[in-house]
Amino acid sequence: MSRIQKLSGILANQISAGEVVERPASVVKELVENSLDAGATKIDLDIDQGGMRLIRVRDNGSGVHPDDLVLALSRHTTSKIKELNDLEKINTLGFRGEALASISSVSRLALISAVANNTGWQVQGEGIEQELQSSPAAHPQGTTIEVRDLFFNTPARKKFLRTEKTEFEHIDELIKRMALSSFDVNFTLKHNQKLVRQYRAAHSEVEREQRVSSLCGQGFMDNVLKIESEMPGLKLSGWVALPTFSRAHADLQYFYVNGRIVRDKLVNHAVRQAYQDVLYGNRHPAFVLFLDIEPQQVDVNVHPTKHEVRFRESRLVHDFIFHSIQDALAHIRPGQCGIAPPAVNLVTGEITIPAEQPRHTHPEKSFSSYIPEQRTLPFKVREQMAAYQHLHAPLVAENLIQQEQADTIIPPLGFALAQLRNIFILAENAEGLVLIDMHAAHERVLYEQLKKNFSERRLISQPLLVPLTVKLSEREMNILDGHEQAFQQMGLRIERMGQETLVIREVPDVLRDSNLEQLLRDIASDLIENEKSTRIDERIDHCLATMSCHAAVRAQRKLTIPEMNALLRSMENTKHSGQCNHGRPTWTQFSIAELDRLFLRGQ
Ligand code: ADP
Ligand code: MG
Repeated sequence: MSRIQKLSGILANQISAGEVVERPASVVKELVENSLDAGATKIDLDIDQGGMRLIRVRDNGSGVHPDDLVLALSRHTTSKIKELNDLEKINTLGFRGEALASISSVSRLALISAVANNTGWQVQGEGIEQELQSSPAAHPQGTTIEVRDLFFNTPARKKFLRTEKTEFEHIDELIKRMALSSFDVNFTLKHNQKLVRQYRAAHSEVEREQRVSSLCGQGFMDNVLKIESEMPGLKLSGWVALPTFSRAHADLQYFYVNGRIVRDKLVNHAVRQAYQDVLYGNRHPAFVLFLDIEPQQVDVNVHPTKHEVRFRESRLVHDFIFHSIQDALAHIRPGQCGIAPPAVNLVTGEITIPAEQPRHTHPEKSFSSYIPEQRTLPFKVREQMAAYQHLHAPLVAENLIQQEQADTIIPPLGFALAQLRNIFILAENAEGLVLIDMHAAHERVLYEQLKKNFSERRLISQPLLVPLTVKLSEREMNILDGHEQAFQQMGLRIERMGQETLVIREVPDVLRDSNLEQLLRDIASDLIENEKSTRIDERIDHCLATMSCHAAVRAQRKLTIPEMNALLRSMENTKHSGQCNHGRPTWTQFSIAELDRLFLRGQ
């Protein structure tokens, strides 16, 4: 063994660089974060050869004081924290004081900066240990940092770089993510002297939405629910896509904590769970969400690249995110204020939601407080009502009583006209024609009903005639041990019998036929991972969903008009009724104007 010796400063910096400087995009991230921390409202990026030759970031922020220029490039130097206390309430993106030192140890770096009412100064680091000198240089207020020849002195690192195109794509994606949260900053991005992106500062709500739509696509913006949810110390805002806009990959998921993009297991779990009921197996939700939380409540000093965070009250944050999104999704029902049903293009079969539709904010009213619009009932519906009034008194009666009271009430889904191929219901409402997939709709209605019934009686579960013995590892046993209470609440009574054995004595009715051993194991591994498990709920929901799928009216069954109307009314009173249990739409609307266009009327 060799003897211990102290590493040279440059080598120590190069080792740190290994953590934060993986590729050109990581340099860009650090530099742009510094510009944002300096309060810049304009950030211009010049990239050459995917950033391998040059990365230049110019901002109009506060600038670096001339006396601090050399310090800025040293290790463990920062203007953002002073003492341990500050570390517990970080409100800047940076604070570790190592980015510039690390970057300058593996590149040729120049820093030119000017503070207000002062001329500019510059300093250059060359990736070698040296006494740095600053010298005057012309520069308006703000800072320019140039990073040339990244990894010129660390060839091993350089080998890991990909093509110019790939490296630039990483930078492009990174700027996109930053532009998505820093709305009031103007960004330009040039590659090989060509302007590739320009994101203008967005101040109003409309401008912000335009920016999101230019970054995430108009399709996303046309299919979102706006989230605006608050509780003391926590605020969640942004946009989540309708379940019908789900994606095959988790590629449209942006989550920011106090302006910092994070990839967090807890957050992902909360979002996923909120969509659980309305998304198909492997589909992924799309969202752009901003969580604002008191800096004391979140630890950002978990990882050198600060992609991960730790919440002090993780349970609370998890449930807050979950409920905020679930709430918004639960209120997607036909006719909900501003929520447009998916429209089907009859020619291409594509499903879209018209862009001009007003967007959904948090639901204030549901159908129980549905306020009818004072419009006259479409002629066809009047005729129908008259025809069926005497035939199907009990079912239609309720509608008719309302009808008499206001003479003009049309429920959001209107009244059934006919059934097509015994699969679809055609109905007429104030907008025009409504088309409903009866099986999908009924399935959702039943599922929600079953869930409601179940949750009202869930504490009553049945003792097993023959208690089930389950073998688990000691680690699994220990983790389950502290949670008996929680199991009981979910209708599951378990008892520990020995080191590695437990018995299940009672289970909720619907879970009788489940693989209980597997369930317990899954719960244990959830608890080890997340300190919480939602398996039982998920399993129950899954059983209920299967039951409702089997119980729902099968396509190919003839329904009477009153039966169809009864289904429409239940849909209006059911949460999530815009999608079936698998996330497919249950209904769609054709307005008279759309039908007119289809037949070229008035042209
Ligand atoms: P950190 O951001 O963690 O403080 P850095 O190494 O990234 O560490 O930067 C060191 C210091 O240099 C910062 O604390 C800041 O004072 C200064 N600095 C860096 N970039 C800029 C900039 N664009 N504008 C103003 N000051 C800057
Ligand atoms: Mg920094």
